[in-house]
Amino acid sequence: MKSYLADWILPVATPPIANAALVVDSDDRIIFLGPRSRMPTGTDETVFASSVILPGLVNAHTHLEFSDLSAPLGSAGMEFTDWIGEVIRFRGRAGRASKADVIKIGLEQSARYGVAAIGEIATTPLVLKDYAGALPCPASVQVFFEQLGSDDGVIDQKISEAEQFFADSPWDSVSAALSPHAPYSVGDRLFDSLMSLARQKQCSVSMHLAETRAEREFVENKTGPFLDMLRSFDVWRPTAYGRYGSILSILKEVARCASSLIIHGNYLTMDELDFIATVRDRMSVVFCPRTHAYFGHARYPLEEMLDRAINVAVGTDSLASNPDLDLLWELKEIHRRHPEVPIEKIVEIGTINGAEALGLDKSFGGLTTGQIARFCVQQAPETTSPYSWLADTN
Ligand SMILES: [Zn+2]
Repeated sequence: MKSYLADWILPVATPPIANAALVVDSDDRIIFLGPRSRMPTGTDETVFASSVILPGLVNAHTHLEFSDLSAPLGSAGMEFTDWIGEVIRFRGRAGRASKADVIKIGLEQSARYGVAAIGEIATTPLVLKDYAGALPCPASVQVFFEQLGSDDGVIDQKISEAEQFFADSPWDSVSAALSPHAPYSVGDRLFDSLMSLARQKQCSVSMHLAETRAEREFVENKTGPFLDMLRSFDVWRPTAYGRYGSILSILKEVARCASSLIIHGNYLTMDELDFIATVRDRMSVVFCPRTHAYFGHARYPLEEMLDRAINVAVGTDSLASNPDLDLLWELKEIHRRHPEVPIEKIVEIGTINGAEALGLDKSFGGLTTGQIARFCVQQAPETTSPYSWLADTN
């Protein structure tokens, strides 16, 4: 038996434990969680001084294919459509490491930051063993195969690529899911085909939605910066868009899937949040706080989501809009920007809510006896409170 001792343990589903011990058997299964005074004797002890043990964190949205970036692309506050141009240029840059190596960098960085589960967006060419080969750090990756396009001529090929992706998914720790990229980049036919495949496979779906005001303008009126962007790339096909003339109509279609993650949702209206609340058992929203700050978006409707009991998870997004994959700093950013949200709630956003969003809540996002121990350790600047590690933004 091994034991891990810390000033506090946060099981998340149950109250914090002071002067706590977590004891695991030879299979790493938790057999004791409680005060040190009651722990079993004869264990091999590891003591974490001035520290808090909490469940492995859950990064519900990232794109690890950009993990070789040393700084975000473009500049803070830039126009989102101009940033997309930077992303496309970076993808084509010569001399980059292989995609498999870049993904490995991202997985290793995530593990260093205490992340145990990831919702990853992956693009073609896609090799699922790139993820399985780098596991168990972190322990679980849900890979959302991203598709975009509005050319009817290539939809059959894209759907057969997606079907092949499911056929190539034999690993327990790497699960297959789908992602129509965003409303401006996915035409109606591709969107409908992906939704239909997701329902057939009973898989989860991730979609960037309500990320910018300009996106809403495009969805509702087919005007604005996204129209200009599509024209500049010579991919504007007016007849490919039209069935979904509102964010709400897209939400309703996505909600027909077994499980879904709405990525960002920075500009969701109260009506749209009311709808998400009605399907909260199968639809989550993923807040990416430092990416949100990078683009200088309006205040995030976090309290409005939490008031409606919407399942809010957290993501780093990619290193194209974020300095690193450190999920703790995302949680600190939430605390800094939304000080009225109870700190316990912020811990849930980074743990159990993310696990629920990814359908992993039976084995991730909490610490309970009988479960495999997937935990991380945070240094606590002062040990009188179980949450000082989150409040410290130095
Ligand atoms: Zn993203």
